[in-house]
Amino acid sequence: MSLVLAALVVTPVAGIELGASYSLFAMLLAATIMGTAITALLLLVQARSMRSLPTAVLSAGFVYACATMVPYALLYPGMFPGFGAAIGANPGAQGYLWFFWQTGLLVALLAYQWLRLAERADPGARACGQFVIVSLTGAYVILTPLAIWLPNLPNTLEDGHWSALFTQFMAPIIALLAGLSIFETIRRRNRANVLDSWIAIVAFGIIVDVYLTLIGITRFTVGWYASRAVVLFATSAVLAVLLAQAAQLYAELIQRAEVLEGEAHTDTLTGLPNRRRFDEEFARAFGSAIRRSSPIGVAIIDIDRFKNYNDSFGHQAGDEALRRIGEAIAESVERSGDFAARYGGEEFVVILEDTTLAGAAGVGERIRNAVLDAGIRAPAGGLLSVSVGVAARLPGSTGEALLRQADAALYDAKNAGRNRVASWRSPEGAPIGSAYDEPLID
Ligand code: GH3
Ligand code: MG
Ligand code: MG
Repeated sequence: MSLVLAALVVTPVAGIELGASYSLFAMLLAATIMGTAITALLLLVQARSMRSLPTAVLSAGFVYACATMVPYALLYPGMFPGFGAAIGANPGAQGYLWFFWQTGLLVALLAYQWLRLAERADPGARACGQFVIVSLTGAYVILTPLAIWLPNLPNTLEDGHWSALFTQFMAPIIALLAGLSIFETIRRRNRANVLDSWIAIVAFGIIVDVYLTLIGITRFTVGWYASRAVVLFATSAVLAVLLAQAAQLYAELIQRAEVLEGEAHTDTLTGLPNRRRFDEEFARAFGSAIRRSSPIGVAIIDIDRFKNYNDSFGHQAGDEALRRIGEAIAESVERSGDFAARYGGEEFVVILEDTTLAGAAGVGERIRNAVLDAGIRAPAGGLLSVSVGVAARLPGSTGEALLRQADAALYDAKNAGRNRVASWRSPEGAPIGSAYDEPLID
C-alpha cells in the first residue's frame, strides 16, 4: 500500500529536476547493496539449516543481484568519472546491468515460488532448482563482461533520457516478470508463508521502480530518486522479514531450552527433582557444608513392601501411591536448604543442609508420619508405610560415604521391622549423634 501511495504521490512531481546528488545516490546504492548481501547470507544460512532448495535459489538470486549492483554502481555515469573509460567500458553498461540485476532477481523469485510448492521429493523440481542456480552463475559470468565490454552496444541513455531500447524492451520485460511473481503469490495465497507475501512486495517494488523511472524520464528527477528509494525499501523488506523470523526463532529456542532443561531435571511421575538433579544439588550442598564447616544430613526413604502393593493393586495404582507419597515427602521438608528428590524406583532422598543427625532423624520421623497420614491402604491391611535411613556428615567424610551410610541405616530400619527411622551408627556400634551436634572441624 505504501508503495502505491509513494508512486501516486510522486507521479505529478516526478519530472521535477532536483539536481545531481551523487552522495545521496551513492548512499542509497550502498544501502541497497549491503541489504541485498545480508539478505543473501541469511537466506543461505536458512537454506543450509533447513536443507531447502527453494531458499537456496532465492539466496542465489540475491547474490546475483548484489554482484551485479557492484559494477552497476562503479560504472554509473558520473559516479566515478574516468573509471569506466579507464577499463574501456561501454557508456551504456549500467543500463544493461540494471536490467540483468532486476531480471536475475525476478527469475529467482519466480523459481522460489514455483519450487516451494512443488513436491518436495520431486526429482524434476530438484534438477530445476539446481539449473536455476547454475544459470544465474553462468549468466553473471557471461553477461556482465558483455554489458561492460561488448563493442557497439547501443547506449541505454541518450542525452540523459532513457533510450527506446530501455523503455520499449527492458522495462516491459521486467514489469512482466514482476507482474508474474505477484500473480503467483496471489494465486497461491492460501499456501503462502510470510516470506512469500514479502517477495510479492519486492516484485511490486520493482514494478514501481520501473514505473517511477519511466515517468521520471531523466536522471536526478524526483521520480528517479524515488525509484532508488523504492528499490532500497523493497529489498530491505525481505531482510526485515528474515531478521524478524530469526529473532522469533531465537526467542522460541531459549524458551524451549528452558523447558527442556526443566524436563531433564524433573521426574515425570511425581514432579519431584530427579536423580540427575539430586546429584548436582547434593554435590553443591555437600561442598558448601565442607566450606562452612557445617553439618549436613541425608535421609533415604523406601516404601515398605511396595512390590506387594503393585502385585495386588496393579502398576497404575502403584504409580498413584508413588505420586501421593512423593507429595507427602515434599510437604514434610519445607525449610530452605531442604531438598527432596526421587532417587529411583520407589526410593526418595532428602538433603538436609545445616542439620545434625538428631535433626535428620526428626525429619525422617516427620516424613514417616506424613506418609501414614496420607492413608494409603496396604494390601495386607493397615496403611502403606515407609522406612527411612538417615546419616549426617562426619569431619573428613565424603558425599559418597554419607549416602552409603544413609543406605546402611535404611537397611537396618527394614531389618528391624520396617515403618521406622534408623540413624547410621559407626561400625563400633556407638551412637555418634552427640558428635554431630557440635560444630564440625574438618
Ligand atoms: P521392601 O519393604 O523391602 O522395600 O519391599 P519392596 O517390595 O518395596 O522392595 P523391592 O525393592 O523388592 O521392590 C520395589 C518395587 O517397587 C518393585 C516395583 O514393583 C516397584 N516400583 C519401583 N518403581 C516403580 C514405579 O515407578 N512405579 C510403580 N508402580 N512401581 C514401582
Ligand atoms: Mg527399594
Ligand atoms: Mg521398598
